[in-house]
Amino acid sequence: MSPAFLSKSKYLAGLQCHKLLWHHYNAKDEIPPPDVATQAVFDQGHVIGKLAQSLFPGGIEIGGDPKEFRQALQATQDELAKRLPLFEPAFQYKNAFARADILNPVAQDQWDIIEVKSSTSVKEVNLFDLALQRYVYEGAGLRIRNCLLMHIDSAYVRKGDVDPRGLLKQEDVTKDVQMLSPKIEPDLAVMSEVIALKSSPKVEIGPQCNAPYGCALIDKCWAFLPEDSPLTLYRLRKDKAFDLIHRGVTSVKKLPRDVVLNDKQSIQVGSAQNGEPFVDKKYLREFLKQLVYPLYYLDFETISPGVPLFDDSSPFGHITFQFSLHIQEAPGSAVRQEGFLAQGRLDPRREFLDRLKALLGEKGSIVIYNESFELSRLDELTALFPASRGWYNQVKRRTLDLLRPFRDFAYYHPAQHGSASIKAVLPVLTHMSYEGLEIGDGATASGEYLRVTFGDAEEGDRSKVRKALEEYCAQDTLAMVKIVEKLGRLSR
Ligand code: SF4
Repeated sequence: MSPAFLSKSKYLAGLQCHKLLWHHYNAKDEIPPPDVATQAVFDQGHVIGKLAQSLFPGGIEIGGDPKEFRQALQATQDELAKRLPLFEPAFQYKNAFARADILNPVAQDQWDIIEVKSSTSVKEVNLFDLALQRYVYEGAGLRIRNCLLMHIDSAYVRKGDVDPRGLLKQEDVTKDVQMLSPKIEPDLAVMSEVIALKSSPKVEIGPQCNAPYGCALIDKCWAFLPEDSPLTLYRLRKDKAFDLIHRGVTSVKKLPRDVVLNDKQSIQVGSAQNGEPFVDKKYLREFLKQLVYPLYYLDFETISPGVPLFDDSSPFGHITFQFSLHIQEAPGSAVRQEGFLAQGRLDPRREFLDRLKALLGEKGSIVIYNESFELSRLDELTALFPASRGWYNQVKRRTLDLLRPFRDFAYYHPAQHGSASIKAVLPVLTHMSYEGLEIGDGATASGEYLRVTFGDAEEGDRSKVRKALEEYCAQDTLAMVKIVEKLGRLSR
């Protein structure tokens, strides 16, 4: 049997994990499709790729069906002699196959390989990516001069149309790539053997499951772990957690004696062992004493596109597009909900800020779960609209971070499994949860908002997503109301 072809994406999968590589060739149907948030990252990469191409006028797109690599090989050969920039040209050498983002003709008969990434810095995986390309292209007979990585410059600030020359910066990584070159052929030989195995290689779970990318097979490979595995132990380094798992310790209830625990970890383990929540009533009473009515429970949602959508915004800068506010005037009184969800494609930040200022009043505590996120966004917004700076300073003095009692383990329930996030805390304190919501986390909220606002979604789809966004954000602030009520009862 002839050896399987390895494209650069498969080569990178093989570097991450042989089991993942094997599945790509032998059990592809077991690899789930990308979720909304991952798809949004891919879509962003596509947009940035097109911007990079615009820097090479006259370039030729090789195109074609990505799966039909023989067609792409032929199309590349047809265009090569023109000595023009080529986008996605395809080459094969031995059993490896690669398509550069851009192959640029230089000097008399040489080429530069340019790989475009939607990140803001060079990562080791990018160097391996380029090293494989160089191996294939040189093997196929090209003379490669330099290997360049084009990535986003986080210092860029949009003014008017996006300027690809400002947004993208190029780094010459030729020397780093050369250092990796000797590894390529031996790697490919080993990977070919892995692909040819009759059954999946045995690979223990480990840090590679999340680096350099979150592996799509995590749900399958980690299924044997109970919910209270050492990976959930609060702030335990992941390598230590994996060491414990490899020693056969799969539950925090059964940690060996040589594991030294800090105070918070001791509370977590004790709680897991006796099945009871831990409550520090005195802490909770002191915490709740700080609340000043009326109470404003506040939560933001943001997008952070790599290509800035608006003037005066930077790559991956947060754009606040939604907030929810639950207001309670006095202890025990009914709560009312207010909110904002940006309409249309214009920059929503000014309107977001004005609406928030109108609703937050002059006094009363502003309760936020993990306030550093919302305060950072207000800091950025009021740097953009300096007339609101004084208002922001006053808001900062009114905030109370509801994460604190949970991060300090003043309350801990074994079903939190080491997490102080609102998603973990809400179901253990109330009957509410995020399950069953169309949108149940912030990354999906951002991805869906971007898709239906700036993509070509149909009206029905758009209104459905907007309704789901309103439900999700309102859930976050109602959750805080319920959590404070419950903490009040627990503190007595
Ligand atoms: S989840 Fe981990 S062990 Fe499983 S295939 Fe992915 S990287 Fe390998």
